[in-house]
Amino acid sequence: MTIGILGGGQLGRMIALAGYPLGQSFLVLDPSGDCCAGQVAPSRIGAYDDEERLSEIARRTDVVTYEFESVPVASARFLESRVSVFPPPMALEVSQDRLTEKDFFRAHGIPSTEYIDVPTLESLEQAAETLGYPCVLKTRKFGYDGKGQRVLNSARDIESAWAAMGAASLILESFVSFDAEVSLLCVRSRGGEERFYALVENEHLDGILRVSLPGGPAVTPELQALAEAYAEKAMRALNYVGVLTIEFFVKDGALFANEMAPRVHNSGHFSIEGAETSQFENHVRAILGMPLGATELLGPSAMVNVIGSFPSKEARDQLMRIPGVHVHDYGKGGASGRKVGHVTLRASDVGALTERLARVRGLIEGA
Ligand code: AMP
Repeated sequence: MTIGILGGGQLGRMIALAGYPLGQSFLVLDPSGDCCAGQVAPSRIGAYDDEERLSEIARRTDVVTYEFESVPVASARFLESRVSVFPPPMALEVSQDRLTEKDFFRAHGIPSTEYIDVPTLESLEQAAETLGYPCVLKTRKFGYDGKGQRVLNSARDIESAWAAMGAASLILESFVSFDAEVSLLCVRSRGGEERFYALVENEHLDGILRVSLPGGPAVTPELQALAEAYAEKAMRALNYVGVLTIEFFVKDGALFANEMAPRVHNSGHFSIEGAETSQFENHVRAILGMPLGATELLGPSAMVNVIGSFPSKEARDQLMRIPGVHVHDYGKGGASGRKVGHVTLRASDVGALTERLARVRGLIEGA
C-alpha cells in the first residue's frame, strides 16, 4: 500500500520510518522543498489547497493521513471523495478551533476549562468578570506551543491584549492552577479496536514541551482510567481512526481537557523505544486496518526534546554512551525554539531513570 502524508515535518518522517518494516510505501505533500520527511520518503512540493497536487496524491496513494492539524478541512474533504482519509476530516474540523473543540468536550461529558467565546471587546470585558482573574485569552485557530495566548491578571490587561490579539477570533478560558499536565495517546483502528498508552506527564517551558514521563509521578490508576474513559467517548463520537492525543490539566485528582490533536504527538515519542509498539507504528496499523500492537511500557522511560540545536559532538557522543539512551535527529536546520530532535531513555527502575534523565537533560539543555 502507499500512504499519503500531508505535512513533511518530523512526525511525517517518523510515520514513514515506522511503516517501512510493515512493507508500506509513502508519498509526502509539503509546501517546502526541503522538508525532513522528504529525506526518507518520496515527496511532492505543493500547497495544501492545491487541487492539482491533491488529485495527484489521491491517484498515487491508497490511504491519506496528516501529521499536523492545520491542514485545511476542505482539502481533507476533497481528498476523502477520492481516497480514504484517516483520521476523519471531522476530527480536524473539531480540533482546529478551540471553541468547537471545547463545545465538543462539553457535549460529550469530557470536563474542560471554563470558556467563553469573545467576539468583541465588550464581550471580553464581560467574560473576564464572569470567569474572574487570572484568565487566559487565546486565539481560536492556529495556536500551538503556547503561541497566540495571553494571561490576563486584571482588568488593566484587557485593552492591550485586545489591541494585540483582537484581529483574530478569540476565546477566554479560566486559568487552571494545575498540579500537573498530562496527555493521553490512544489509537483506534478501522475495525474499531482501541488501545491506550500510559498517561504521560509533560513539562513545558515557554509553551514548548521539554520532557515527557509516561506513568510519571502525577499518574495514578484512577487518572489513567478516567482519561481512557474520556478518550473512548471522543474516539467513538468522531468514528475515529488513527492515533488521537488529548492533553489534560490535573487538578485535585480531576482531569480537565485542554486540547486534542488528531495525530501522533510529541509527548508520545517515548513509545519508539519505551513501549511495545510505537505510536507511529500503531498509527500506520490503524489507518491500514491492521491489528493494533500492544501499548504497554517496556519499563520506566522518558523523552527529552532537543530544542533550537543539537549539543556539540562531544555531548552527543556522551549521550549515546549512556545505556538505554537513543538519539533521534530530525535532520532539520537549527533555529530558536525549533524542535530539531529528541532523546528517549529507559532504565530498569525509577531511581535509575531519574538519575539518567538528569544526565541527559544536563547534556541537552547545557548545550
Ligand atoms: P495550549 O496552546 O493551549 O496547549 O497552551 C500551552 C500551555 O499554556 C499549556 O501547556 C499550559 O501550560 C498553559 N495553559 C494553557 N491554557 C491554560 C489554562 N487555561 N490555565 C493554565 N495554564 C494554561
